[in-house]
Amino acid sequence: MPERFKHLSVSETSQLQKTLNYAVQFLVLAFSYALFSYLGVKLATLTYNISLIWPPVGIAVALLLRWDMRLWPAILLGGIFQEMVVTGYGFLLSLTISVASLSAIYFACYLLKRLHFDVQMERSKDFYYFTLIAVIGCPLLMALMGVGVLTLNGVIPQQDFPSAALSWFLGDITGMLVFGIALLVFNLNRLAALLNASNLLVFGMMLLIGLELFVFEYSPVAPALALLPVLGLLWIALRTNLAATSWVVLSFSALAFYAALNHQGIFSSLQNPPLGTWFYVNSLALVALIVSVSAMESRLESEQMQYSIQSTNIGTWDWRLQDQRVLVNSGWHHLLGLSHQRREISLGEFISLVHPEDLRIIENTMDNYLNQQTHEFSCQYRMYHKSGDWRIIQSTGKIIEWDLRGRALRMCGTHLDVTDSIKTQQELTQTYTFLNRVSEQIPGAIYQFILDKKGHGHFPYVNQGMVRMLGVSAEKLKEDAKYGLTNVHPDDVSKLVKTILKNSILGKSWRYEFRVVKPRAGWREIHSRPHQLEDGQVVWFGYMTDITDHKHLEQSMRLVNQKLQSAQRAAKLGYWNGNLVTGDMSWSDILFELYGYRPGAVEASFNTLLGLVPEEEKQALKDGMAWAVRTGELNIEHRIVTTDGEIRWFHQLAKVSTANHHWFEGSAQDITERKTLELRFQTMALTDELTGIANRRAFLQQLEREWGRFKRKGSHKVFVTITDIDHFKQVNDTYGHDVGDKVLRHFTDLIGKHIRKGDVFGRMGGEEFALMLIDSDQAQVINLLEKLRGIIQDTPLQVTMRLSVSITASFGVARFNAIQRNFDDALIAADQALYQAKGQGRNRVCLESSTASQPHSITDT
Ligand code: GH3
Ligand code: MG
Ligand code: MG
Repeated sequence: MPERFKHLSVSETSQLQKTLNYAVQFLVLAFSYALFSYLGVKLATLTYNISLIWPPVGIAVALLLRWDMRLWPAILLGGIFQEMVVTGYGFLLSLTISVASLSAIYFACYLLKRLHFDVQMERSKDFYYFTLIAVIGCPLLMALMGVGVLTLNGVIPQQDFPSAALSWFLGDITGMLVFGIALLVFNLNRLAALLNASNLLVFGMMLLIGLELFVFEYSPVAPALALLPVLGLLWIALRTNLAATSWVVLSFSALAFYAALNHQGIFSSLQNPPLGTWFYVNSLALVALIVSVSAMESRLESEQMQYSIQSTNIGTWDWRLQDQRVLVNSGWHHLLGLSHQRREISLGEFISLVHPEDLRIIENTMDNYLNQQTHEFSCQYRMYHKSGDWRIIQSTGKIIEWDLRGRALRMCGTHLDVTDSIKTQQELTQTYTFLNRVSEQIPGAIYQFILDKKGHGHFPYVNQGMVRMLGVSAEKLKEDAKYGLTNVHPDDVSKLVKTILKNSILGKSWRYEFRVVKPRAGWREIHSRPHQLEDGQVVWFGYMTDITDHKHLEQSMRLVNQKLQSAQRAAKLGYWNGNLVTGDMSWSDILFELYGYRPGAVEASFNTLLGLVPEEEKQALKDGMAWAVRTGELNIEHRIVTTDGEIRWFHQLAKVSTANHHWFEGSAQDITERKTLELRFQTMALTDELTGIANRRAFLQQLEREWGRFKRKGSHKVFVTITDIDHFKQVNDTYGHDVGDKVLRHFTDLIGKHIRKGDVFGRMGGEEFALMLIDSDQAQVINLLEKLRGIIQDTPLQVTMRLSVSITASFGVARFNAIQRNFDDALIAADQALYQAKGQGRNRVCLESSTASQPHSITDT
């Protein structure tokens, strides 16, 4: 705290200090109570030790009020001491009287405190409170109780009760009025108001007159002088303050008390000198104090008024209608930039400064006021400013004096320059209108929301969008935020409120979605950020949008996505994208599933994929990727081994993204089923269904391949054999087609078992077969065929227990040779040899005639 404000701070006092303070104050109060009782008794005792000047009550009340109400035991102690030692009563009686006095004093103080009594008594209100309660009420109570106790105890005879009570009452009044107030308002700074030449002179004069009145021997001029101190006191009262006045009263009274003590002065000649002293001192005090308080109060008020007028730059005018003079203050000049400050101007001068166009307004307003249509004159007009521009002046006034016939004599009022505030207001209105227009263009709603410490919220500002979206008027929202909840979906209300309250504590910017049922049912979203204000309020600035369409779209998107996902799942189609150079990828959930993982369970990357691919295909996949990077397209099939050990086929199809030439968008489809089928079809196309050996096409392909090899390498030995089951028709006819089929399988089984791995055996159609033998000599070939023929002949098919079917077969053999144009020629040659074998009686092997000179039968049947 800066040094010069130090005195404003409340300094902490320790407990010890407080206790010490209390002890000192206690002693001061008890001691002064007792001491001044003693003085009081000495001063102006009338009867029964009752004094007309009784300072202790004033001291007690003043110190209790100024210091601490808890000092009351000191009063009790001082009282008992006084009654026992000074007056000489017994303890019990002293205690009773002291308790009675204390209770009256304490009660008076308590009452004053309750009435928020100000000990400085700057307002006359406080002075009258004090007069009523402390100067009159308390003494009355004390006198009745004190004298009552003494009367009951027989100290005062009953017939003396009224006079004794009156004395007691009067004595206490002096104590309060002269001593009490002086002590109560004592303040050194204020006493300093006495310290100027004229005041000191007056004070000195008063004391001198006092000496003449009370101290020196009685002189005939004295009574004539007795009024002079009253004038002096009034002077002091009007020019200083209550503290100074009360001490002047006290010091002057001291002279009167001195006189009373010594039975001298102007009152000594009276029948009852103490009563005279009392009367003089108390009336002096009362008049001086009342004047001082009222003077001080009006001075204070006028100072305050002056100060307020000066500090607010208000000009004042005071129009005397009789002679058309206008009295103005410096502020009035200042408003118009006039430095030449005359207190008085003519009405003409005044009017000459008003803008001509505005004179009409003044006239009309004045007429209205004078006709009592308005209760005051109030209007705005332009006045000429010395700088050359017109200032807008707010003028307000009232008639304050009328003549006997009710005509206005005097009218007072103020001038206030409102040019700037009007300009600011216009600017504000413009800005506000502009902001309002802009905010109406915004598709959403914008608002300001304030939540006070008690949890009560309202919207100081909302635009029309807010009204449209919530279906609640701006006025209601301004009044209470609870109206904003009117159309919120019942299920969302408490959540919304909770979120707002939570957010006011967290203080972060937030976003919240909720539903409304009216005026357009659907979803709203608020975006907001709270700011904590210094007074504990929280203010949010935010906006709200209608997200109903967005929500619907989101829902249908979700639905479409779900459908798409299930379609993809059904199609076993996964999506990925990634950089094929770095290997970074991202996989769709379904792709994870297809590779055998939970989504996100492994890192989606090319390396992860490569880890799943069988060893022998890894290179092919890498090559495929490298190719894709070069060409921008990926189209590759590969297998993976899933975590279950299952082998699955995948088709990777991707295209480079145009944005980044290493970035590919692609799909991976599980094509295992198709692939399996494809392979099966491939096998089927080359296999004879009935017998499981190569079909005609497969056999011819092999034959063609061997023919190629034979052509490249002349030494290559290839023998082609065509074999046909003899009289097979009869087998069918005799045993049925089924048995015929079994015979065909039996036949192929027998031959299949006895040929080498490299030999090719195929069914050419019906019961006709072909056999290609490679790298064998003619003799070996003939041997083999003879062996086969024998086996067929000797191995009947055991159809049932009782039925066995025997067959034979004929064989025609030809060899690839240089003369043949192609392998067909070799086949034809073999066929011819077979024809020969059939012709020669079947169940035999015949070599083509070109190989031998003539096709001849080898088998001899
Ligand atoms: P050859 O000794 O002259 O060869 O007499 P063949 O009866 O065997 O003569 P052919 O060539 O006229 O008869 C062939 C028969 O083979 C005709 C047909 O009914 C039968 N056949 C052809 N293919 C099948 C088949 O797949 N299953 C059965 N069971 N019979 C077949
Ligand atoms: Mg045949
Ligand atoms: Mg046949």
